[in-house]
Amino acid sequence: MTEVSKKWYHAGLQFKCTGCGDCCTGEPGFVWIDEVEIATLAKLINMPLEEFQDTYTRRIGTRWSLVEFPTGDCVFFDAEKRSCGVYEARPRQCRTWPFWDSNLESPETWQATCRDCPGSGKGPVISLEDIEIQRRQVKI
Ligand code: SF4
Repeated sequence: MTEVSKKWYHAGLQFKCTGCGDCCTGEPGFVWIDEVEIATLAKLINMPLEEFQDTYTRRIGTRWSLVEFPTGDCVFFDAEKRSCGVYEARPRQCRTWPFWDSNLESPETWQATCRDCPGSGKGPVISLEDIEIQRRQVKI
């Protein structure tokens, strides 16, 4: 049996985003981004790189995170439309939700994810292979 087929979610997991916006809002947290993602976002909103960094990012140790509104909502979350304002260039952390190590650690952590995210545990089954492609992109 290979490492991957031993995963508790070897049969895949259901996920279909409802677009509720809950994962972009609420409790303060971090949206980790690297330099390539920063440059991509700056280009998307047509802002000089340095200005973008000063306005929309914060240094946390050796890493970068997007800033948030005082409510904890992501700075790029459009509250009126309840959608991401930079969806095409959203960071890997956002693209790979909910298939993060922390959510996939055990059936219990996945159940907790399903309670927080109404799209998790519902909809089409995402295969083990596709989950693993996403999981390997970030370490959260
Ligand atoms: S919380 Fe889940 S269902 Fe809601 S927007 Fe985020 S991924 Fe989609």
